[in-house]
Amino acid sequence: MTNGAAQPVFVSIQTTAFSGATLLATLLAAHPEIATIGEMNGLIAREDPESYLCSCGQRIKLCAFWQAVGSEMLRRGQNFDAADFSTQFALGGPRVVQHLRKRSFGHPRLNALRDALFAAWPAEVRRIKQLVARNQALIESVLAVTGKRVFVDTSKDRLRLPMLRRYSSLDLRAVHLLRDVRGVVASRLRRGAAIDAREAARQWATLHERIRRTLSALPPDKRLQIGYEAFCSDVRSTLAQLDRFCGVDPARRPVDLWPESHHIVGNEMRLKQISEIRLDERWRSILSEDQLAAIRWGAGSTSLRYGYR
Ligand SMILES: [Zn+2]
Repeated sequence: MTNGAAQPVFVSIQTTAFSGATLLATLLAAHPEIATIGEMNGLIAREDPESYLCSCGQRIKLCAFWQAVGSEMLRRGQNFDAADFSTQFALGGPRVVQHLRKRSFGHPRLNALRDALFAAWPAEVRRIKQLVARNQALIESVLAVTGKRVFVDTSKDRLRLPMLRRYSSLDLRAVHLLRDVRGVVASRLRRGAAIDAREAARQWATLHERIRRTLSALPPDKRLQIGYEAFCSDVRSTLAQLDRFCGVDPARRPVDLWPESHHIVGNEMRLKQISEIRLDERWRSILSEDQLAAIRWGAGSTSLRYGYR
């Protein structure tokens, strides 16, 4: 690999909620060269930063890992508070502008035109470059503190990958993580989401279509599709495949699947103690025939394209 040691690798796991991204990222980070903090947007607004627990069990404001990250951020000219990461690509402006920024058109020429329009807007470019610099500083800080070189992110920010691609010096890669739409919808409904099965399935399909379009802009060797079901049924070989994709040696992965320590934010999964990884197929008993029909209708051909029947 050419000067791979110098350039940090950023791996984005792109998926919907309830598709196993936190689990996958946590297991990946057991490798001596891979780090993760879960979602690099940090705490969401409704969380109380005073009582918020890091996945290590410590209150986030007292966690030594986050204090070390704060020192590294300061060395890179960035004030950092574990209670407020300020890394999210929320750029404001009128609704139509926000929509246009995030939209991925089917045609590359339309995307190029859209990008050219935004690139001609100085205030926008300045703001994006500041955000990219802050994101890159956080990635480098976490890698410095952990002594690793691959950073795995699970945040669902639509703009991060395209903006880092445009303005950062990171080696960018993306994993498209898919889970059977029936499992995702059942998990959402079980959590009391105010949504019906058909609409939840439609949202699943829309998001995965969008991810597919976004990732198609990356060279083929920089994107990888992984199925949650395949991952759960053969964890070790999936991790080995991902190690190679990340550019690290699978042989260096320890026997223990779980990392010795982790400091993850952004998902309740972070606080769960899991002893074994088991395929969650509760949807088979939870969903009614009517709901299954509604999901087939809502997810349409997208579900079939990814091999879910
Ligand atoms: Zn911690």
